Amino acid sequence: MKNVVVIGSGISGLSISRMLKEVCKIEILEKDKSFGGLIKCERIGGNLFHRVGGHVFNSRNQIVLDWFWSHFDKEKEFIKAKRNAKILMNSNLIGYPIENYISQLPEPQLKAIVNELLDKLSNDKTNVENYSNFKDFLIGNFGEELYKIYFGPYNTKLWNTDLASVPLEWLDGKLPMPKLREVLLSNILKSEESNMVHSSFYYPCRDGSQFIVNRLSEDLSINCSYNVKSIEVISSNLLSINDGDKIVDSIVYCGDVRQLHKIIKIDDSALNQAMTNVANLISNGTSNVLCETDENDISWLYLPEDKFKAHRIIYTGNFSDTNNEGTSRKTCVVEFSGKQDQLDMINELKLLPGNLAPLSFNYEANSYIIQNQNTRKDIAILKSLLKSYGIFLLGRFAEWEYYNMDKCIEAAMELKESNFFSK
Ligand SMILES: Cc1cc2nc3c(=O)[nH]c(=O)nc-3n(C[C@H](O)[C@H](O)[C@H](O)COP(=O)(O)OP(=O)(O)OC[C@H]3O[C@@H](n4cnc5c(N)ncnc54)[C@H](O)[C@@H]3O)c2cc1C
Repeated sequence: MKNVVVIGSGISGLSISRMLKEVCKIEILEKDKSFGGLIKCERIGGNLFHRVGGHVFNSRNQIVLDWFWSHFDKEKEFIKAKRNAKILMNSNLIGYPIENYISQLPEPQLKAIVNELLDKLSNDKTNVENYSNFKDFLIGNFGEELYKIYFGPYNTKLWNTDLASVPLEWLDGKLPMPKLREVLLSNILKSEESNMVHSSFYYPCRDGSQFIVNRLSEDLSINCSYNVKSIEVISSNLLSINDGDKIVDSIVYCGDVRQLHKIIKIDDSALNQAMTNVANLISNGTSNVLCETDENDISWLYLPEDKFKAHRIIYTGNFSDTNNEGTSRKTCVVEFSGKQDQLDMINELKLLPGNLAPLSFNYEANSYIIQNQNTRKDIAILKSLLKSYGIFLLGRFAEWEYYNMDKCIEAAMELKESNFFSK
């Protein structure tokens, strides 16, 4: 059996470790004091706090679903829910996605949007190939008015970057790409969203995504509070971690690819150049506040307006009653882009609906990855150079892909299928 170290205990590291544990000797090294990465949660006075987001699970890939459900009892351990997302605009709740609910907007906006969409119908350029950046794509697909009132402000807040600088390859396959005819028909037929991966989703009956972490980590050897600071080659087939502390045949790295140039010490100019090329990629952090809230039946509330600093509220207390064990009210997570001052966030909560009362705060520096025009090519080159040393990249920040949990599992499956580990 090969000795393999997996660096990082998020969903990517846990998944690949489970997939390889029958054919390799696996140890997971995690720099944090507890495992789970972005999907770990904690209890605050009995209430469940998703420290990042409000993780729900689904996948379009049947093989991923089969693998996932082989670890859980879908009927007994999970709740299946329908997404009930809304957008708060001018103090009104509008359906989500907004393009399917333009009939709920005030008449002047509605008229402007419909006129633009009708003009575009004769010249339907909804395909990604027609645009070079995200901003042009959004305006080209939905028109200036919808861009002005929703897509522009919301996405600028979320990504904290100039949308004109975002290449479209990044979003291809990640966003539903509606056709204009479908948009207009959806409004007339009042059809509900259905083509999004999370239009219905699964959520654990207890402990949210921490439940997933706990189950997937069973029987795995995980070494927490272990920061991998150096990786060297000591012979043609062996790798040394942290100055000889661990000697292994192979490494799966699920950490931040931008840090690799500081960690990997191999005398290979092409590799060093490839690591330097990705060292300055940009990511966006999120500040999250666990709050008590008044009751509602919403799952996600989007906040595009500039008057709010927060960009969405995730009503995690509605996902499972067991998330609200420390309060007679419900709980939710208010998400802000970037690092926010705690006092500013407390003041902001007063502007938002639901009589929000803060219970706990978290800042996560690495939440959203931002690709540039070269990222995919640069990562592919780096991957192929690292492979020759037995080092593999896996996960959202190692591959710099906008992965959800299911995509991390799918990427782990592809890595396992590469057969490197069974030789
Ligand atoms: C706001 C938000 C909401 C989301 N909502 C959903 C959702 O509802 N559903 C869904 O499916 N997905 C969702 N996602 C995506 C999901 O969170 C990610 O796809 C997934 O958690 C990424 O897992 P990962 O293992 O690749 O990375 P991570 O979870 O970041 O794990 C990497 C681990 O590596 C460790 N590490 C890094 N460097 C080192 C080192 N040098 N030594 C040791 N350890 C190291 C880190 O501490 C970390 O634990 C959301 C993401 C965000 C940001």
